[in-house]
Amino acid sequence: MTKKENSKKTSGFKNDIFIKKKSDEAIFLLEKHGIPATPANYHVWFTYTADYDQSLKKTIDHFLLNDKKFTYYICNKIYQKFITNDKENRKISDTSDTLQNELSKIANHLKTSIKGTSTFSESLKKQVKSLNNEINTESLTSTIKNIINDANNIENQAKKTQTDLEKSSLKIQKLQIDLETARFESRTDMLTNIGNRKLFDEIINSAVENFKTKDTPFSIILCDIDFFKNFNDKWGHVTGDQVLKAVAQVIKTTIGNKGTPTRYGGEEFAIILPNIRLAESMFLAEKMREYISSHSIKKTKTGEYVSKITMSFGVAQYHAGETAVETVIKADTALYNAKDSGRNNVKAYEIS
Ligand code: GH3
Ligand code: MG
Ligand code: MG
Repeated sequence: MTKKENSKKTSGFKNDIFIKKKSDEAIFLLEKHGIPATPANYHVWFTYTADYDQSLKKTIDHFLLNDKKFTYYICNKIYQKFITNDKENRKISDTSDTLQNELSKIANHLKTSIKGTSTFSESLKKQVKSLNNEINTESLTSTIKNIINDANNIENQAKKTQTDLEKSSLKIQKLQIDLETARFESRTDMLTNIGNRKLFDEIINSAVENFKTKDTPFSIILCDIDFFKNFNDKWGHVTGDQVLKAVAQVIKTTIGNKGTPTRYGGEEFAIILPNIRLAESMFLAEKMREYISSHSIKKTKTGEYVSKITMSFGVAQYHAGETAVETVIKADTALYNAKDSGRNNVKAYEIS
């Protein structure tokens, strides 16, 4: 290995150690302050120990210097202020990927070095044997035995370090699972258990990218419950919420694995249908419209039937050169048209 290559390798290893050290410090500080090691809290403290964000560091130092109690609540506030947003979500997952990578690199490195020290120890043992036969000098034998002792110590130390690293690696893996769960929850609508607006935005943007790179067409359906205000006024919000859940279920069942249903907001839903053109989307919308308008809804607790509801649907297909927002506007125009034409119907966006 040349000198240059050697120094490159050494500095790479330093970096691994740096990340492992900062990760340990972050976990230590979480434990010290009695803060649960949720992904968000871990992210805050890793950012702190690794010195990745000066403003975050200053804020935390200020708290620590003034001897204020660092509660879970404060940690959460700091997460919201400095870390949480879409871009940062991606950073969380990138960070944990990097950590995982770095840790396996260290583990591999140590495995190699353990092998190295074992060989070293074996060869020394052989040498002692031969020295015993040939020279038989007590002091020399004892010196070499000491060397063997040292070698064994090195080996044990390295084994212990590897066990520690494996433990850390497991901790990090757990954090990654927690991160994934947090990511999933942040994209789910808590009432209906389907995707939320954030998921819709992400998926439509990637559908546009897929069109650009792979020429994959896609359509969207926007739908809205008709006169839902009246329904709530008559039956109450709790029953209204049950209706929203039931509608989400109908959408989910009808769409199956053809697309992603999301709650766009309030009593409006949006569905992204990759690889599906306008005609088929209209067919799916019509199927949902028909089902919803022809089925009665029962209150779960009392079994009492409430008024039937209807929904209006606007459908649009993405066309080359459009932005995601423009496609949504097209579907929204079609939905408006459906409302304007008496509700309980499906309209496609027509180019005028
Ligand atoms: P339109 O046919 O024009 O859509 O009439 P609408 O009454 O459905 O429309 P409007 O926008 O006037 O009212 C929407 C209603 O949806 C108002 C609100 O009470 C209800 N709504 C929105 N979100 C929720 C929710 O989470 N739960 C319940 N129960 N109702 C909701
Ligand atoms: Mg409505
Ligand atoms: Mg609405």
